Formats: sequence, structure tokens, C-alpha cells
Amino acid sequence: MQSFNPPVRTLMGPGPSDVHPRVLQAMARPTIGHLDPAFIEMMDETKQALKYAYQTENELTMPVSAPGSAGMETCFANLVEPGDRVLVCINGVFGMRMRENVVRLGGEAIIVEDKWGEAVSAEKVEQALAANPDIKIVAFVHAETSTGAQSDAKTLCDIAHKHDCITIVDAVTSLAGSELRVDEWGIDAIYSGTQKCLSAMPGISPISFNERAIKKLTSRKTPVSSWFLDLNLVMGYWGEGAKRTYHHTAPVNTLYGLHESLVMLTEEGLENAWARHLRNHEYLKTGLESMGIDFVVKEGDRLPQLNTVWIPEGVDDAVVRSTLLNEFNLELGAGLGDLAGKVWRIGLMGFSSRKENIILCLSALKEVLQK
Ligand SMILES: *Cc1c(COP(=O)(O)O)cnc(C)c1O
Repeated sequence: MQSFNPPVRTLMGPGPSDVHPRVLQAMARPTIGHLDPAFIEMMDETKQALKYAYQTENELTMPVSAPGSAGMETCFANLVEPGDRVLVCINGVFGMRMRENVVRLGGEAIIVEDKWGEAVSAEKVEQALAANPDIKIVAFVHAETSTGAQSDAKTLCDIAHKHDCITIVDAVTSLAGSELRVDEWGIDAIYSGTQKCLSAMPGISPISFNERAIKKLTSRKTPVSSWFLDLNLVMGYWGEGAKRTYHHTAPVNTLYGLHESLVMLTEEGLENAWARHLRNHEYLKTGLESMGIDFVVKEGDRLPQLNTVWIPEGVDDAVVRSTLLNEFNLELGAGLGDLAGKVWRIGLMGFSSRKENIILCLSALKEVLQK
């Protein structure tokens, strides 16, 4: 057995995206105890910076020690009780996973479905809530990474609140990549991931709950079925105040990485990060269109950080992607579900969202397609 030395790739798929060297260096610093006062100080700064990234004052804003999928489970496991009716909006893979969460927790999922590649329809959500007055929660994906479509989170939250529902929002791909304002938009519970637009390693899921979500949690009639994800217990470690108690051993070095990525986000400025993702999307779009490559999602609903494009007629998806990987060290994303073999997903997330990456992608793609 030998040490593992991965090839150096340019990651332009649906995540993970390129990790900034500063994040990698931060992770290599010495491990200290997860209750060490120096570590606790870093935890407080991390929570503070996550509030900035989410644009929220929510006290309960913290990183879950596991990937985005665990952030999803944290939201559903804490907020859905057996018998609860939950409206789940499905317009891609991640909405389907939300439904799976609801069902496994003993809830009843009412589905609003939209075509893959389209945004969640506010009209359909309104109709479904009007027809089912006992629905308690509305769940939707802000940035559907499986298709590249962006939904109007503010409008969906307004509709949910008009019907006395709380909202669970998947922001795994939107956080730090496109406009996201948790407090202003009235998002009640939200989760994200570190490996998409935060330029950090995979494995951590920042979450945030507002007062309305906490009220739903504290008025549960049944205990949260997951011990690890039960926020009543997790907050003994991540909560405010000097007295922190052991819950689980935090992934110490990984949290150094998250902290460093948040330092970089505050240096760049959140709105500047959103603007960079948009600018680079425009740059990629101009290049792709000059090659005759079209977008799947209609203009206006496109995610700048995840560009889903039709594979040109007669082109072999697998051959192109493996050539890009083997000859150019460039990773593009494949299509999922019905879009498998028909589209490429080109990620411009976090540290991957750079002009030099786009130039590599366009010129490599041009060469491989000509062959
Ligand atoms: C990547 C992603 C997830 C899952 O995150 P993991 O870190 O892979 O568990 C969930 N939702 C969306 C929209 C994603 O893009």
C-alpha cells in the first residue's frame, strides 16, 4: 500500500467544486480538542459568519457535522412528526429526496410536480395549499442542481406563510453562489453544503432555523427519531453560552476548512460573490452559444453556478466526458434521470467560478467535439 496522491483536476461538475488552497492549508493545521477554548472561539466565529452568508439573525445557525444530505435530514427529522402533511415541490432529484425524507418520518407528502428544468410553479403551490388546509410545512429546492433551475424562494415562502405553513428550503447549491436572503424572504428552516459555492471541502452542512421553526420543534408531541440529528441535543454543544457539553466529536480540521472559506467570503463580500458567479455564467454562456450549444433551462430561471446544456446531436456523452477527464483533467457533470446522456452539467461554483476555468472548458470542449 502507498500514500494516495490524487490527480489534480479542474472540477466543473455539480460538486464538489475546486477547493481553495487556503482551505486545504487550513485543514492541515494541528488538531486540537473539540472543547478546547481556542476551538470554541473558532466555532463562535464560524456561526457568526454563517449568519452573514445566510443573511440571517437566527441564533440557531450552525454547521451539521455531515454532508448536505444530513442537513436535509436534520431539517425534516426535527420538523416533521408522524402524521404531518408536508407539501413537497418536485422539479428534480433533490425534491424527490425531500419526499423520501417525509415518508420515512411517517409524514404524508403532498406533491406539486414541475417538469425537470423548470422552476417550481407558485400557482400550483397556491392551489395545493388552498385545497389542503391541513398542510403544515412547504418544502422546496431553491437551486435544483440536477437541472440547473432556480425557483423564486421569496414568493414561495410568502404563499406558504399565507397558509400558516413553515418552509424548509434546500440551499445546498445557492448559498454564496446566488442571491439568498433568509430573513428578508422569510425562510424558516434551511440547509446547505460546503462543497458547492463556498469553495470548501465536502462534508459539512450549514443549517439555520428561525423562531417559527424552533416553535414547531419544541412543540413536538414525539421525540425526534434520530439521536444524532436531534437539535435539542446538538445545541448543547453548538449553542450559545460558556458551558458546552460533549455531543459528538466535531470534525475539527474540516471545520478549520469551513472557517477559512468563510473568512474568504467575508473578504470578497457576499454580494460580490453573487456577482462573480453571474459574470462568469455570462462568460461561459457566450462561449457555449458561439459553439451552437443550447441551455436546457429558460433564461431567467437559470442558475449561474450550474449550467445545464444539451449535448449536440450525434455526440457520445461518455466519450467526451472521459476524454476531457483523461486528457485535460477536466470534470464536467453528467445528466441525471431522464436527462442522462442528453445533457452536461457545467458547474461554476465557488473557487471553480474563475475565468481561466471557463477558457479551459471552452477550448477543451471545442477540441474534443471537433475530433
Ligand atoms: C449536492 C446537493 C445535495 C446533497 O449534498 P451532499 O453534500 O452531496 O450530501 C442536496 N441538495 C442539493 C440541491 C444539492 O445540490
